[in-house]
Amino acid sequence: MSDMLKPAFVHRLIKEKGFNIKKSLGQNFLIDGNIARRIVAGAELSRDDWVLEIGPGLGALTDLMSKEAGRVVAMEIDRDLIKILTEYHAGEAVIVQGDALALDWREVLEEAGWQGQRLKLVANLPYYLTSPLIMKALESDLPIEVVVVMVQREVARRILAQPGTADYGVLSLAVQYYTEGELLLNVPPTVFIPPPAVDSAVVKLKRIPRQISAPREQLFAVIRAAFQQRRKTLRKVLRPLLDEWGLDREDLERAFSAAGIDPQIRGERLSLDHFAALTEELIREV
Ligand code: SAM
Repeated sequence: MSDMLKPAFVHRLIKEKGFNIKKSLGQNFLIDGNIARRIVAGAELSRDDWVLEIGPGLGALTDLMSKEAGRVVAMEIDRDLIKILTEYHAGEAVIVQGDALALDWREVLEEAGWQGQRLKLVANLPYYLTSPLIMKALESDLPIEVVVVMVQREVARRILAQPGTADYGVLSLAVQYYTEGELLLNVPPTVFIPPPAVDSAVVKLKRIPRQISAPREQLFAVIRAAFQQRRKTLRKVLRPLLDEWGLDREDLERAFSAAGIDPQIRGERLSLDHFAALTEELIREV
């Protein structure tokens, strides 16, 4: 087992290096070998795979993945951790210092020698950036086949939520637009140093080709409008879009009727296919 998954080793290392754990960077280091192995197993790595990791921390997952994948490329923002990572993981993974949200992932990969090999993203994410990092992965033009990430349990619920539930929202629909999601495991706070204030969960998102013809930008404008005031009826929440799209109330009613959607219901009841149908009918009215 990697030393980085042994609590006593991690405690000693942090002390010896005088490393200050930075809460502001979402630093909660995984120290449970069983959970680390289950996360890595969830990614189903082979030597043909390249892995992009966000926030390797002390390298708990990095180590394991380097043994199974063709190459691991890990982006870490904290320079203090970079020093420790390069000392303990030299020659295995490619470690890049920088903000994963700002970095150009294609550039990072190509500099590491990536030439279009199969790509997976695996990370125990910094929780303050969960949604933007997931969205960056989904919207990326890189061929990321699978995303396996540890997130707050509450975010996992939102990611995997179905229509008609309180957790269902823009994030659920964005994830569904690109992928098929699955809960891999629930994770308690006790397996981290320091323990986070919230429960965690690991989700696996597999990219699937979707047959949705509604253009993405307009589809998500409708979805965002529907969830901006989730207690109101669709008829009410979509009115602000009308001016923007040059439509009037009659156009809106016609679109509802052509899409077979009751304007009195709330957006939280609509599936992705319903939203797509409504968007297409609205575009027809423009
Ligand atoms: N992967 C390690 C593990 O499982 O023990 C650490 C996970 S910890 C929850 C999140 C990591 O993300 C930390 O190492 C933190 O420094 C790093 N991080 C935070 N913000 C980042 C950013 N914008 N870009 C890259 N790494 C970041």
